[in-house]
Amino acid sequence: PPVAIICIGMAGSGKTTFMQRINAHLHQKSVADSLSAPPYVLNLDPAVRSVPFESNIDIRDSVNYKEVMKQYNLGPNGGIITSLNLFSTKIDQVMGILEKRCLPKETSEDTNQDSSSKIPSHIIVDTPGQIEVFVWSASGAILLSAIAASFPTVLAYVIDTPRTTANTSTFMSNMLYAISILYKTQLPMILVFNKTDVKPETEAVEWMRDFESFQAALHAENEAQESEGGGYMGSLLNSMSLVLEEFYNQLSVVGVSSITGDGVDAFFVAVEEKRVEFERDYAPELARRR
Ligand code: GDP
Ligand code: MG
Repeated sequence: PPVAIICIGMAGSGKTTFMQRINAHLHQKSVADSLSAPPYVLNLDPAVRSVPFESNIDIRDSVNYKEVMKQYNLGPNGGIITSLNLFSTKIDQVMGILEKRCLPKETSEDTNQDSSSKIPSHIIVDTPGQIEVFVWSASGAILLSAIAASFPTVLAYVIDTPRTTANTSTFMSNMLYAISILYKTQLPMILVFNKTDVKPETEAVEWMRDFESFQAALHAENEAQESEGGGYMGSLLNSMSLVLEEFYNQLSVVGVSSITGDGVDAFFVAVEEKRVEFERDYAPELARRR
């Protein structure tokens, strides 16, 4: 079966641009090797104005975000949550379509076999700009677990590299967010350091892999501030970075530029690793819980 890639990340990290990039990559691949159909694309962001790729299933086709806000007298986040809730009530239909389009046909009764028997190698999913709305809502959890029950599923946690590595505390809070999502969803995760055309991922990767380099950066910041900043914040970050080592070991990390396409091949290598991991570690656990 195809692998489902769920793109999550802070608003502005580049999820939608990254989707566009991997969509184009997979389209090319399906033409080149003619083994698989193009990717199956889901847009779960009800509030996006225009999507730079064609979706097979688009939440905007079944719920009108603006109308939902008006009708229920909600703000932007409430509008997105309610739209997701409405959409998640149709999850059975959505999964029906996904399984029909993306799982191998069991019988050969199909009349026009050649074109319809090909299935996509990947299902790719874009999520709302505001990460918390998807990750911490009941309907987000319903959608995620429904997909993971039918397909090997990996999370692509997209990170705005230049912004996140601007200082050690921003970096640390982004990593803590990623951890909490990892533990909540129990799905394999790839950290996608995006926008490497602006700033390479090297520093971020070094901070993750080498505790002393993170400490050194922390120390340099405290020196520069010449303040009591070295106090509780400094020692908190210091001890957290030790705890985080365990977490980092579970992740695949890639640097990409969604603009230039740099690093996309490495991303798909990581997806394959995580698919294997999903089938080995996660699928049995999911089956046990059901
Ligand atoms: P989303 O909110 O996570 O879906 O983010 P978007 O895909 O809408 O991107 C937010 C902004 O980041 C847009 O202005 C994009 O053009 C920009 N962006 C996304 N990926 C890249 C990248 O790889 N390099 C650069 N330089 N800009 C990017
Ligand atoms: Mg987006």
